[in-house]
Amino acid sequence: MRKPVIAGNWKMNKTVAEALELVKDLRFKLENVSEVEIVVCPPFLAIQPVYQFLKGSNIKVGAQNCYFEKKGAFTGEVSAAMLKEAGCSYVILGHSERRQYFKETNEFINKKIKAVISEGLLAIVCVGETLEEREKNLWQEVIRTQLTGCLKGFTAEEISKMILAYEPVWAIGTGKVASKEQAQEVHKFIRDLVVKLYDKNTAEALRIQYGGSVKPDNVSILMGEPDIDGALVGGAALEAESFMKLVKFERKAK
Ligand code: PEP
Repeated sequence: MRKPVIAGNWKMNKTVAEALELVKDLRFKLENVSEVEIVVCPPFLAIQPVYQFLKGSNIKVGAQNCYFEKKGAFTGEVSAAMLKEAGCSYVILGHSERRQYFKETNEFINKKIKAVISEGLLAIVCVGETLEEREKNLWQEVIRTQLTGCLKGFTAEEISKMILAYEPVWAIGTGKVASKEQAQEVHKFIRDLVVKLYDKNTAEALRIQYGGSVKPDNVSILMGEPDIDGALVGGAALEAESFMKLVKFERKAK
């Protein structure tokens, strides 16, 4: 059984004071949840204070990015070791906003994954097609290229330090969620690809999150699909009430 993981990607939202307000509420509201892995990913500056506040709770802390070098003259960058020291146990990598606005390539993301997992952190690796690619029926090719590029050179053991996130770009922040059939089709495609690249056991153990306009009213429908193992959430993770409802989604037998 794969344990579902619900992660909130706060993006460039919340000052330290606002971040602490949010996690104060979440810690209290979610203290009895054990069947779902809960992660919050604040902006860099809020990671350490949020971690200090959540220490000992069932809510883990992640980052939204990191650089692959260990240290040195890389102005403005943050290393995996720095994130670990600040209290992170997860790092989101390859988010479509990083690919789109900061021109991150699969090769670059691959190096970052290496850096993150070699520090003992879990990498949440994002893939997903644009609307144009979906309309041209190119999603399989796009996702195959992204995945083979991002996972290049990793062993099956290293894959177990990763979570994949399927995030169709057309569904992120748009309110247009993928249907459960569309999402399940892609998740199954990804799992089958991991079988081909690695083996059945590795693929069966791998968690694949869905991301893209997940809200309290659609989460249970998506999570009921056999290959969907959690959600990566943007907008609905910014309010305690909606994030709590997402984490406490109604579980249906798969
Ligand atoms: C995201 O940024 O990863 C995301 C899925 O955003 P939203 O939930 O707002 O669509």
